[in-house]
Amino acid sequence: MGFISLGCPKNLVDSEVMMGLLDRAGARLTAHPEEAEILIVNTCSFIDTAKQESVDTILEMARHKTSGSAKRLIVAGCLVERYRDEIRKSIPEVDAVVGTGELESILEAAGLAMPAAAESVSPFNILSGNGHAEVRPGLESRAATHKASAVEPAQNEDSPKSRQEGEARERQGRFRRDDWKGATHLLPTYLYDENTPRFLTTPKSSAYIKIAEGCDHPCTFCVIPNLRGKFRSRRFESVVAEAQQLVARGVEEITLIGQDTTCYGEDLGLKDGLPLLLDALAGIDGLRWLRFLYAYPNRITGRLLDTMARHDNICKYLDVPLQHASPQVLKTMKRGAGADIFLRTLEKVRAAVPGIALRTTFIVGFPGESLRDFEILEEFIGEARFDWLGVFSYSDEEGSSAFALDKKLPKSTIESRKRRLMKLQQAISKGVKQQWVGRELVLLAEGESEETPLLWEGRTQFHAPEIDGKVYINDFGELEALEPGRFYKAQITEAHDYDVVARVVSGPL
Ligand code: SF4
Repeated sequence: MGFISLGCPKNLVDSEVMMGLLDRAGARLTAHPEEAEILIVNTCSFIDTAKQESVDTILEMARHKTSGSAKRLIVAGCLVERYRDEIRKSIPEVDAVVGTGELESILEAAGLAMPAAAESVSPFNILSGNGHAEVRPGLESRAATHKASAVEPAQNEDSPKSRQEGEARERQGRFRRDDWKGATHLLPTYLYDENTPRFLTTPKSSAYIKIAEGCDHPCTFCVIPNLRGKFRSRRFESVVAEAQQLVARGVEEITLIGQDTTCYGEDLGLKDGLPLLLDALAGIDGLRWLRFLYAYPNRITGRLLDTMARHDNICKYLDVPLQHASPQVLKTMKRGAGADIFLRTLEKVRAAVPGIALRTTFIVGFPGESLRDFEILEEFIGEARFDWLGVFSYSDEEGSSAFALDKKLPKSTIESRKRRLMKLQQAISKGVKQQWVGRELVLLAEGESEETPLLWEGRTQFHAPEIDGKVYINDFGELEALEPGRFYKAQITEAHDYDVVARVVSGPL
């Protein structure tokens, strides 16, 4: 069986759950699609470029049905939520589709029966990856097949009810899919738990845990709520149990993920759910780094910051997607706030957690973004001095409320504004990284650099997996060799625009 996972870490966790279910049912994974009898593509359809990559990958895999040994092609993920019927009609090679709320139906789609729980041969439900699955990183995630159509979206018995905010947004039409021909009205409700098998594909020292799924926010450019459904949190005890299992298997870095982790637990009736969860997880012996992605700006509370500051093993790292800084644009985006409020928030964060690395993302070219709006964003970026910053060009998505807005900007304007922001951030990043030179930091060695075998790559607590700049290691100090997945003390010796160079001082720690 060959498995390709596209898109964000949230989609990756879905892939790991599907691979875990398939592995438990006896399927064996291969990294060579031409050898696989069953091919599965877990897709992303967040914005246009992600959709295109998904379709290209499906077509590439479809070729193995004529030239390779593939007998079955399954498409899973966000693209299915959006174009369920279209996929079957336009790509006849596709034998089955599995939406984001139907992960367990991957077994039926693959023609494998679900075994009884007692048949599990492992004392752990988390299976070690063997590197056989291909995982392609990408962007920040019902009438099923004739076989899978009988399966209702799976929901385990502990799945919580959605919160009032979600119900209210539903009444306002937030989750409607009427513009998507071929999508069903049923929203996904699935949540995995600590007993669901997962086939880990991340390096052995690191793993993601999805703590919540869906989103209730009204951001007008975003179709993720339409794709992934209402916000719902995993049970507190389930997340803690999964983290304990992972650490017992040698994982030392856990990254908590969700569309908005700062809402965690609101649907469970928890106040300060994320700080409480962080407190519980930070107490797990052997967990060296704990971080969470992503924070919604108005939900960064004093309690959350205190919790981050109090625990040495909570990474001093915050990813807070702000999307824009002009109050006018943010109002049309239905996010609110603006540059002044954000600057005060950042000041509060930096005062409460000294030395914290801040990451954000912005969208340029939102409908109606005037030159003045754009300049407000530029000025804000200049003042905020983020450590890491991503810029997305506005993507006009059918099904989002922004799709109906007038005053769409020409592509050339959007792209030139994007280039201006990236250039500005390049200079800021260079200055910020210069200040790292001479510092001694704990470094996770990841392995030989993809660019040259003369260098190794690693990360500090200020780098989230896969997304931020790199630390290149050009000097092992007294050591003959480094071990991937081990932690070392290292000194930063050089800084470039986004990346830094380090020399190992001691370790492994
Ligand atoms: S917070 Fe806004 S941008 Fe983020 S997933 Fe929810 S709706 Fe989309």
